[in-house]
Amino acid sequence: MPHALLEGFQHFRTHDLPPRRERYRRLAQEGQRPPVLFVGCSDSRVMPQLLTGSEPGDLFVVRTVGALVGPPETPGETTHAAAEYAVAALGVRDIVVCGHSQCGAMAAVDAGAPEDMTHLRRWLTHAEDAVLPAEERATLADAEAARRLEQRAVLLGLERLAANPIVAAARQEGRVTLHGWHLDLATEDVAAFDAATGTFRPLEDVLGDAAPGA
Ligand SMILES: [Zn+2]
Repeated sequence: MPHALLEGFQHFRTHDLPPRRERYRRLAQEGQRPPVLFVGCSDSRVMPQLLTGSEPGDLFVVRTVGALVGPPETPGETTHAAAEYAVAALGVRDIVVCGHSQCGAMAAVDAGAPEDMTHLRRWLTHAEDAVLPAEERATLADAEAARRLEQRAVLLGLERLAANPIVAAARQEGRVTLHGWHLDLATEDVAAFDAATGTFRPLEDVLGDAAPGA
């Protein structure tokens, strides 16, 4: 494994770095001013920069297990720490919370995590409010139940970020917009939450509707 990491680093230095050298130099000298905070899952299959065509300096990223966001009153909760800094110091204009299909964390919320993973079990309690009502869960196939739980956890995360005083003030002044995404790992389709309909719809449609003049 270390050898694979070294090879990857050398590939980066040889192929990916040269066309971006000036950009990296400028960012190092002038500092970052990313327009977007992206909250994603730690899952290795979720690649925020690749997914959004981003370059260095474009995305401020925080990744948590399950892309979960804890309640704002949780001491030291990392997404709130990142959101406060991103909004107040960096001036991000958009915050994306992105869940995904086949999420192991969400599966563990549904099925329970092993007893000895005490930190994981504690972390996953942040998703409890997203769990489907038992009557609803009972009527659904596993895949559909998983998708609903994943999407509900995204909406819960948005709610909690919206309750953060710094984020709330920025939203009220029209400086920040929140977005909920759900990524399908098999197809790389993204569904975005559409507040107008209360449903997740293809990202292209939702952003198209929101575009000026649309
Ligand atoms: Zn995940």
